[in-house]
Amino acid sequence: MNYKEAIEGELFDYLAKLVREKNLETYVIGGFVRDFILKRRKETKDIDIVTVGSGIDLALQLSKELPGTPKVQVFKTYGTAMLQYKNTEIEFVGARKESYVEESRNPIVEKGSLEDDQCRRDFTINALAISLNPDNYGALIDPFNGMEDLKNKIIRTPLDPAITYADDPLRMLRAIRFSTQLNFTIEKSSLEAISQQASRIDIISKERIVTELHKILGAEKPSIGFKLLADTGLLERILPELIALKGVEEEQGQRHKDNFYHTLQVVDNIAEKTDNIWLRWTALLHDIGKARTKRFDPKIGWTFHNHEFVGSKMVYKIFKRLKMPLNDKMKYVQKLVLLSSRPVVLSEDVTDSAVRRLIFDAGDDIEDLMTHCEADITTRNKKKLKKYLENFKLVREKIADVEARDHVRNFQPPISGELIMQTFDLKPGREIGKIKEVIKEAILEGEIQNDFDQAYALMVKTGEELGLTLSATSK
Ligand code: ATP
Ligand code: MG
Repeated sequence: MNYKEAIEGELFDYLAKLVREKNLETYVIGGFVRDFILKRRKETKDIDIVTVGSGIDLALQLSKELPGTPKVQVFKTYGTAMLQYKNTEIEFVGARKESYVEESRNPIVEKGSLEDDQCRRDFTINALAISLNPDNYGALIDPFNGMEDLKNKIIRTPLDPAITYADDPLRMLRAIRFSTQLNFTIEKSSLEAISQQASRIDIISKERIVTELHKILGAEKPSIGFKLLADTGLLERILPELIALKGVEEEQGQRHKDNFYHTLQVVDNIAEKTDNIWLRWTALLHDIGKARTKRFDPKIGWTFHNHEFVGSKMVYKIFKRLKMPLNDKMKYVQKLVLLSSRPVVLSEDVTDSAVRRLIFDAGDDIEDLMTHCEADITTRNKKKLKKYLENFKLVREKIADVEARDHVRNFQPPISGELIMQTFDLKPGREIGKIKEVIKEAILEGEIQNDFDQAYALMVKTGEELGLTLSATSK
């Protein structure tokens, strides 16, 4: 097989020239080759180059040849280097042999051949290499039948899976991530090894775990990955809160739904609608408070009172434990989890004031919230599905109506604290907050409109009720 067309273009031309002139044995390897053969070219933003010799030297030499002499980042401890050319990141590594000692992800590294280097790769489909050498330019070098596995859609380790995963437990997550992204099956002995060694994931840094979770959540059908994570015992160690949602209980002939599988369905639904990764996190965590709040009431059946509030608090704990940034993205997920049932309640009785309050609370995230709610419908009953979707359509229309009229989405109080102070000759104090609150409530309830004159009149009236007197200039 010849894959010359994989290595067409300016960058490879420069590299091949260097390889030829300096007689350096060099290959392109890994994800780039895999994705080329799978025709997933758009997905590849990084290219991995392996050379029998020094990867760092090769990177430095190539940079000198390339227009603009791009800067080389050298990672001395790993013996690797990276340079960016146009929109691609190119990683260089010297071919190596790795041997692992227990309890560490960091192997002992020696210089090696291309074949040694292919042996240390995680999966056969990631060990494919294409030659950049003049004698066999474009030849595919595939010692582990990676092509066969690509064709049959199989994730398989080049060496004994038990050893491969024990050496570097991150590979367990990578296997599941590739299986999800590519819709490949993890070969049986690999899957067994992962199940047996699931607890070893504990030695992997949270940051790396989250990177893989993001990739799973970012896939077309994330449920594939989460089912595998659950079945192998990995999820229990990474997100036990999700495992706690598993199972169906029955009391007096009443059953509740399995909230784990429901959640996965919601995640798949949202993945069809949006690439917004934080909305996908919202879907994953939206019912997380249900395990703790579950009760059975003989009169009304199963209840999960307040699970949205409990869940939104858990979002913070989960982000913190996974060392994810506790920033506005986290707050976004918290907010949407907290509000996740509000449109449902609304759809049963759409009043203007309830809609106004929802817009006020959700702000600019109101559309995302509605998208989440639509994804949250997992009934198999076609009639019900149609009814729920129609209800939400009504809610959306009502939101648009109310917003066009009352502009509460980014609510700015029509009367400022300063004006209240001037009007009543006040120093900063409790009365100001009280008056502002009365005005805000009146607007949300629809008693007055969101405009200056009506709010001013209400301010004066409320001030008087509080026993305040107008300042000389305000009379
Ligand atoms: P993608 O870039 O889509 O995430 P990839 O396969 O290119 O997929 P990278 O993390 O970019 O993954 O790694 C590049 C290559 O390095 C892989 O194809 C694989 O050959 C090798 N590799 C990466 N991580 C590991 C690992 N933990 N163990 C063994 N080999 C690995
Ligand atoms: Mg890559």
